[in-house]
Amino acid sequence: MIRVENLYKSYGDLEILKGIDAHIHPQEVVVVIGPSGSGKSTFLRCLNGLEKSNQGKIEIVGMELTDPKTNIQQLRQHVGMCFQQFNLFEHLTILENITIGPIQVLKKNKAEAESFARELLQKVGLPDKEKHYPHQLSGGQQQRVAIARSLAMQPKVMLFDEPTSALDPEMVGEVLKVMGDLAREGMTMVIVTHEMGFAREVGDRVLFMDGGFLVEEGTPSEIFNNPREKRTQDFLSKVL
Ligand code: ADP
Ligand code: MG
Repeated sequence: MIRVENLYKSYGDLEILKGIDAHIHPQEVVVVIGPSGSGKSTFLRCLNGLEKSNQGKIEIVGMELTDPKTNIQQLRQHVGMCFQQFNLFEHLTILENITIGPIQVLKKNKAEAESFARELLQKVGLPDKEKHYPHQLSGGQQQRVAIARSLAMQPKVMLFDEPTSALDPEMVGEVLKVMGDLAREGMTMVIVTHEMGFAREVGDRVLFMDGGFLVEEGTPSEIFNNPREKRTQDFLSKVL
């Protein structure tokens, strides 16, 4: 589903990604961990074309992102992304937030878009919020709407960049639960998170990044119980 080869990314003279190789299979849930500044967000942003890589190759959802002929807008329809900040449209209701993409981009009719949006609100546990506005919802509820909004575009892959980092602790669980449900349904997911319990429980594979390198990867039990690399051991000793 995703194939990354020798990916380099710099900002000016500052080299951020220094030759990343990664393959992610359909239905796989891959968790990316690593210290702040190691390039995790940059890596995710490269995967959906929000950042342009300097070198290397990215294939995702059957399209070659790094080919200049590829239509990035079209590619992004298949690659959902959720950030730390939910970025909902404040002046639209929850239902409108979820239907605007399908109506405007996928050209769905309103009734069809709304019926799917209601299904998704049910799925994220917010069936009674469709007429509310974002500011009337808690952070955890808004993030669940943001996930529903991404799913409304029927993506083939979902990318999450620290989706629970801006939430009050009591709201983290409800968002992780929605993500866990999605994983069990077979969605292909790449998730940057500091939630190590979630990584262990839901992840099929864990990637550890440090200093722009993919230092080590393995199953959750390999990475958390028997990390091979000193840098992984040092990082885990601080966060576990
Ligand atoms: P992480 O998500 O692992 O914390 P990031 O990918 O956000 O790491 O950042 C990696 C490095 O790239 C950091 O040193 C950060 O300061 C730098 N960086 C990120 N975005 C930009 C940018 N737009 N311009 C310059 N430097 C950036
Ligand atoms: Mg980040």
